[in-house]
Amino acid sequence: MDVTVRAIKAEEIDKIASFIATGYADDIFFKWCVDHDKDQHKIVTEYYKVYLNAKGCMAHVAENNSGEIVGATVWLPHDVDAGIYDGINKAVGTHAGNFQEVADKSHANEPTNGPFYQLVAVVTDKKLRGQGIGAALLKHQIDYLDGLGIPTYLEASTPYYGGGVYGKFGYKYFGMLMKFAEGIVLYPLYRPALKEKKTAFIWDESYFWHSAGDGALFEPAGGYVQELGPVESPESKRRIKNLLERSGLIKQLVQVEPIPATWEQLQYFHTKRHIEAVKEMSKVGGIDCGFYAIVGRGSYEIAKLATGGAIQAVKTVVESDTINTAYALTRPPGHHAETDRGVGFCIFNNIVVAAKYAQKELGIKKIAIIDWDAHHGNGTEDAFYEDDSVLFISLHQDNLEPIGRGKKEDIGKGKGEGFTINIPLYAASGDAVYKYAFEQIVIPAIENFEPELILISAGQDASIYDPLARMMLSTEGYRYMTKATKELADKYAKGRLVALHEGGYCPTYVPFCTHAIIEELSGIATDVGDPFIFDMKGTTYNELLPHQKERVDEIKKYLNEY
Ligand SMILES: [Zn+2]
Repeated sequence: MDVTVRAIKAEEIDKIASFIATGYADDIFFKWCVDHDKDQHKIVTEYYKVYLNAKGCMAHVAENNSGEIVGATVWLPHDVDAGIYDGINKAVGTHAGNFQEVADKSHANEPTNGPFYQLVAVVTDKKLRGQGIGAALLKHQIDYLDGLGIPTYLEASTPYYGGGVYGKFGYKYFGMLMKFAEGIVLYPLYRPALKEKKTAFIWDESYFWHSAGDGALFEPAGGYVQELGPVESPESKRRIKNLLERSGLIKQLVQVEPIPATWEQLQYFHTKRHIEAVKEMSKVGGIDCGFYAIVGRGSYEIAKLATGGAIQAVKTVVESDTINTAYALTRPPGHHAETDRGVGFCIFNNIVVAAKYAQKELGIKKIAIIDWDAHHGNGTEDAFYEDDSVLFISLHQDNLEPIGRGKKEDIGKGKGEGFTINIPLYAASGDAVYKYAFEQIVIPAIENFEPELILISAGQDASIYDPLARMMLSTEGYRYMTKATKELADKYAKGRLVALHEGGYCPTYVPFCTHAIIEELSGIATDVGDPFIFDMKGTTYNELLPHQKERVDEIKKYLNEY
């Protein structure tokens, strides 16, 4: 729809105030208020009238071709907004307690290091929504405020002008989903008021040159097994980088070059014997350094650079003033590697060394690690099993490799007791199950722990199309987990969040899952989407089936009672 956006005129203030109040009244949040008190429209109108009169014409409206006003936007210093809430709170009277809870929660994550301003855009005619009018208004208002040097943040408390609209402008947001007693759902999205932070991307061409041997799946070729190339091929990783380039997202990330991990850093976790053995095997290539962990020719240098990539990612988010999140496309992966041997394609344990580096060299004390690879992160668990400074949470397919690891009863030992959380899910668990596990276990555990840094072992082998696991995550599931983790990082860890690539063996789908993760980390939306999600409709990928819910409940109960 063609609209013209312009500043409002003084004589329009009453009309526009009422228009905005009408938009507000349709908001689920305000609908709740209106349902409890019929005068809400009047109250909100009055507040806007007072504000607009005081500020003159610093609001904008969208007009259609016939000169009718179809949308409006206004900016408010935060305390004015709080004043509106207070006014409504008083008017709501007997429901004040409940309302206060709604208002408090809706403001809980707002920036407090202002000054900052909130923008509200409304399009009251439902038929006109989704046509970019709200977006045009917000863009106009943001440009206007940017011109005045005024920092802003945006709040969308209604889904109809949600993230999709804002994402178009490349702003960085974090959002949250809140549920209240009466079933009201708010979707606020913010544009941080002051400095926008960026996302680092770490990779090196050599990561794609590591040879994980030959054979087929994870076994050597021979007998009836025809050579195909190992399932841990470079292709799923190279195609991630390709997709980032194709979508243009890579240009909006900050490229950080990896530096090889030093011998000393590797020894934060690994034995000298293991490091030396890998070095020797690497001269020849094709030798297993433990259990299904082939060292190719030259893989020692590449593995050191992968661990070094993890280190640089951590160093960047901790030390940089402008970057707070990172994705490291490390290969070979790391989370299975044990102190004295490689396991399951993993030679050195990238995430463990990076976490220990953060503690030893950067002075970070408390770190949370979320491992959503479909396989249990046994090496990482070993490293911190008796450590209360690292909270390790693994969500995985129950009893997949390594068999026998990652049981709910494995909760840490000694002073580390309670700092290891295993969430073994049934095969065929998808988006809704992971979301439920996050809500019930992961999020409360991290809130309780209050980490200074969050690391993710990002294994995209829990996707529905993976050949090595039987989980059913879609890109949307990975998106959700990233977003939820980012909110936790924003809340507790100054936004410091690093995702390290682990497994993921469907070369077609892993890039889309990873692209979604990086979109969420950076807050930058692209038009890539998920070309494969269509085929998942009709499956239970986004259902929480009774046995799946029971499993999560049972784990939660165990953790609460042990
Ligand atoms: Zn895996």
